[in-house]
Amino acid sequence: MTVPEYFASKVFDDRVMKARLPANVYHSLKQTIENGTELDLSVANAVASAMCTWAVENGATHFTHWFQPLTGTTAEKHDGFISPAPDGGIIMEFSGKELIKGEPDASSFPSGGLRATFEARGYTAWDPTSYAFIKDKTLCIPTAFCSYGGEALDKKTPLLRSMEALNKQALRILKVFGGPDVKRVTSSVGPEQEYFLIDRDLWKKRRDLVYTGRTLFGAAPPKGQELEDHYFGVIKPRVQAYMNDLNEELWKLGILAKTEHNEVAPAQHELAPIYSTTNVATDHNQLTMEIMKKVAAKHGLVCLLHEKPFAGVNGSGKHNNWSISTDTGVNLLSPGETPYENAQFLLFLVAVVQAVDEYQDLLRLSVATAGNDHRLGANEAPPAVISIFLGDELTAVLDAIETDSPYNGTEKMKLKLGVDVLPRFTRDTTDRNRTSPFAFTGNKFEFRMVGSGDSIACANIMLNSSVAEILRRMADILENADNFDETLHNLIKNTISAHKRVIFNGNGYDDAWIVEAVERRGLMNLRTTPEALSRLLDKKNMDMLISHGVFTEAELRSRYEIQLENYCKSVRIEALTMIDIARKEIIPAVENYISSLASGIAAKKAAAPELACNYEIRRVRKLSSLTDIMDDGAEDLSSAAAHLDTIQDITEQGGEIINGILPKMARLRAACDEAETLTPVDFWPFPTYGDLLFSV
Ligand code: ADP
Ligand code: MG
Repeated sequence: MTVPEYFASKVFDDRVMKARLPANVYHSLKQTIENGTELDLSVANAVASAMCTWAVENGATHFTHWFQPLTGTTAEKHDGFISPAPDGGIIMEFSGKELIKGEPDASSFPSGGLRATFEARGYTAWDPTSYAFIKDKTLCIPTAFCSYGGEALDKKTPLLRSMEALNKQALRILKVFGGPDVKRVTSSVGPEQEYFLIDRDLWKKRRDLVYTGRTLFGAAPPKGQELEDHYFGVIKPRVQAYMNDLNEELWKLGILAKTEHNEVAPAQHELAPIYSTTNVATDHNQLTMEIMKKVAAKHGLVCLLHEKPFAGVNGSGKHNNWSISTDTGVNLLSPGETPYENAQFLLFLVAVVQAVDEYQDLLRLSVATAGNDHRLGANEAPPAVISIFLGDELTAVLDAIETDSPYNGTEKMKLKLGVDVLPRFTRDTTDRNRTSPFAFTGNKFEFRMVGSGDSIACANIMLNSSVAEILRRMADILENADNFDETLHNLIKNTISAHKRVIFNGNGYDDAWIVEAVERRGLMNLRTTPEALSRLLDKKNMDMLISHGVFTEAELRSRYEIQLENYCKSVRIEALTMIDIARKEIIPAVENYISSLASGIAAKKAAAPELACNYEIRRVRKLSSLTDIMDDGAEDLSSAAAHLDTIQDITEQGGEIINGILPKMARLRAACDEAETLTPVDFWPFPTYGDLLFSV
């Protein structure tokens, strides 16, 4: 079969709906999808029945409400379509009620206290804006997951709410500009996904990778990424076979996998889809990550999605390409043709600048995880300080507007908004400053801080909400303007003056930038997850998110708890894994080598007493002192972990991780990694960095 023939063959998409639903049912469903109107039960019954028939024809036996709990992964509980028939056989059936609402007994998902145990069951509700699909033999229905009190227990619900908030405020702005009739504004996302591929047999021997997704030990190999010979290099046959299979699986699910290439680190690769509506892009990215892992297993590989699987080489991120556009097909972040379009573009642009400046902490915390803390600011990924790259040309335009001076671009002209046509920006196709956390790339912003293993939901919730908030304030001003052109001009100008501190076109990896950002510009440098997360409960941030209906106060407090708890648990597992591997694998291995050296010395001296055995004795001394340090280090870390377990308060636990656990982990690792460099490969208990990074 050709790609167009099997593309989306496992998706109950518009084509299938149109072909299989009665016209009136199809029409009602479209209304629901496009305008969010309520679906009545008779329509739901008809849709469910058509879905069931289609799914069964395509090999499905079960259905599931597919949702995204706060664990960051996806969840599913399968129910069969079967129902007994009076004649002893079965029929396959699926009702509208089952389609619309599910009640998984999902009481073990984190709720941060939103559900008392007696009402522990949450319910799932169909999200008709994301198509149902078949995975393996199960019809998956994308759903939101809420408590009986209506509080969101998932990532999808606030994402949909944030899209609604953005829609509402952006429509107000478009209305004051008096442009063509726009019914809906949506945010779109194309997430570029980085990952590592390593050999499965080697992976099995690394308990750190198996338990935590990253290596907790490992000396640097002689060759890393310094030759830059991997980036965009020829894709090896085994990797290519994997990518081909992966594309096929993704395409069947209607996922627009488009670009694939080798990344900077050895064994690192990237996959980029064509962008889609934010909630669909989020669903698709979750599915993509799942299928990446599954397909890897078939090829004897493991796909690592951790943000920092290896120290010393680049980690993996996700570039969240984000834009806003209208149902009439206009990208609001694209410079336009007419003066008004351009003024409108500039207004949206500066609104994003202001949003990123005012809510930099929300953006930072939206990507805060234990894994991503290793990556941000490690001179391979953007720093933890948020700034915006606009490029020289656009920055010059903003400067000219701010100072009421002529714009010295390709043509000299004095900019007067609403009157002149803006100079045409050439879309910069060269390297657009890979060091910036938030870069304007011609018609979209690329938020580059998202971690590779994380859901993109949180980043987009914060992006949509903060931009909605600024648009709300701007609409309040513009709707009440006596002189629209002048008010608009001043609004743009004042916004630039007030928020240009967040614009930075230089090298974000430079230490001097961090000093300038923090000391001169007053930008925030939230280096760790606990530090970043605490900002979620900041009054300014809570007020904003609550006022747009994106979260309730209870939801925010619960999310703070859950995310911080997740961080603490992840690091705790890493600490315990380190202790275990150091004690049970590394120290015994080094001891074996020491004994072998010692017996060698004894044997040599027996044969030739005059031999000094300097080399062996030096090694025995050095390695013995290292095993002492390792054992002390493991002991020390173990008491710190025991102490951590006595701390009840989650904020305090976070502090203890930063000050107590992480430095001890680093010390234990340093001793073990040094021992590795002095121990022969035959004695070392597990595959090294060189083995892992250059095995495929
Ligand atoms: P670039 O070279 O600028 O990174 P690409 O065309 O390679 O651009 O796109 C990178 C990612 O950005 C892709 O996933 C792409 O679909 C996405 N993208 C392109 N245009 C938009 C847009 N208007 N909104 C959101 N994402 C977009
Ligand atoms: Mg890119």
